Amino acid sequence: MTQKLILVLNCGSSSLKGAVLDNDTGEVLLSCLAEKLNLPDAYITFKVNGEKHKVDLSDKPDHTGAVEALMEELKAHGLDSRIGAIGHRVVSGGELYSESILVDDEVIAGIEKCIPLAPLHNPAHLLGLRAAQSIFKGLPNVVVFDTAFHQTMPEHAYTYAIPHELYEKYGLRRYGAHGTSYRYVSDETARFLGKNKKDLRMVIAHLGNGASITAVANGESRDTSMGLTPLEGLVMGTRSGDIDPAVFSFLAENANMTIAQITDMLNKKSGLLGISGLSNDCRTIEEEAANGHAGAKLALEIFIYRLAKYIGSMAVAAGGLDALVFTGGIGENSDIIRERVLGYLGFLGLKADHEANLKARFGNAGVITTADSAAVAVVIPTNEELMIAHDTARLSGL
Ligand code: ADP
Repeated sequence: MTQKLILVLNCGSSSLKGAVLDNDTGEVLLSCLAEKLNLPDAYITFKVNGEKHKVDLSDKPDHTGAVEALMEELKAHGLDSRIGAIGHRVVSGGELYSESILVDDEVIAGIEKCIPLAPLHNPAHLLGLRAAQSIFKGLPNVVVFDTAFHQTMPEHAYTYAIPHELYEKYGLRRYGAHGTSYRYVSDETARFLGKNKKDLRMVIAHLGNGASITAVANGESRDTSMGLTPLEGLVMGTRSGDIDPAVFSFLAENANMTIAQITDMLNKKSGLLGISGLSNDCRTIEEEAANGHAGAKLALEIFIYRLAKYIGSMAVAAGGLDALVFTGGIGENSDIIRERVLGYLGFLGLKADHEANLKARFGNAGVITTADSAAVAVVIPTNEELMIAHDTARLSGL
């Protein structure tokens, strides 16, 4: 295994998240977050050895400026020469990429080709990639796609029931997301349960601010709840998830809203935030629901009910259910949501173990069903950065 460190970058249009990982141990030696990029008050915050400090980027408030500041910080800690390769998270690889790949000119052209499928994200990833190439000269770069794991979905799972020529002409189909998390968590679940992943029919719920759920069989994605974009599927922090597409014409006619306004409302003002009128943060919703706030109680119930319904349908996609897996900030920490979801699944023979469920928090993996449960439910913390680091080291030959 490698002694070299891996730099993992995740670039958004106005942000850049970075982490330096030891690929062998998973230890994070340095992390950073640049915010407000392309605005005059851009800055980057570094966290090293538990201490945070902020560096102003106003002289060069773009992705290149952020990567330059990161290079300076690495030098200050003697880490620059220890970086062996750089791994980049890329939101969409469309149908072009079913696995991670070492970057060359052809790959850059491929990511450009997928811009219509991720118009906000892929251009930002390219900015980060080019900055990394010019500042970390000579180091290999690897791209890891959120969509890649779901390329094994069968045609009947990814095709929308609309005129087929729209798929042929525009690539309009379901692609899914959170694929790097699902790949990591499906491997970890098999390891945790001491089983071969090929023998497990899993339903994995990745519940963060963005939330999705995936059916995994034979170690492969068979279906997932996010679609062409991350808007489809579960109720999320600010996204509606599944909704009748006729809301567009309904709101255009009755509320005089434009397509852009409705899209914005469904992505940014809906979900837990929209229903409760309070917050997109699940902790706040749980606290206020416990205090009797009607909107928070309803938001929580809808979140749980819709998730339980989706688990049923994903069990169909997986061909049965051996393991139900909870991950992401909510999945890893909310004993309340997990227990109430399991409450809906009693008819499938799942039985919650109340004490075990309370213990599975704060990064602890654990089985949360009783020994006589028909299938096991388990909490498995995700680690997308580590998965990206592993791919990057492997493909760079480190
Ligand atoms: P992101 O999609 O931004 O990566 P995370 O996976 O970090 O999101 O998850 C964030 C969500 O996890 C927030 O809604 C937060 O309230 C929720 N969360 C974190 N800790 C808890 C907890 N103890 N109980 C309930 N929800 C929690």
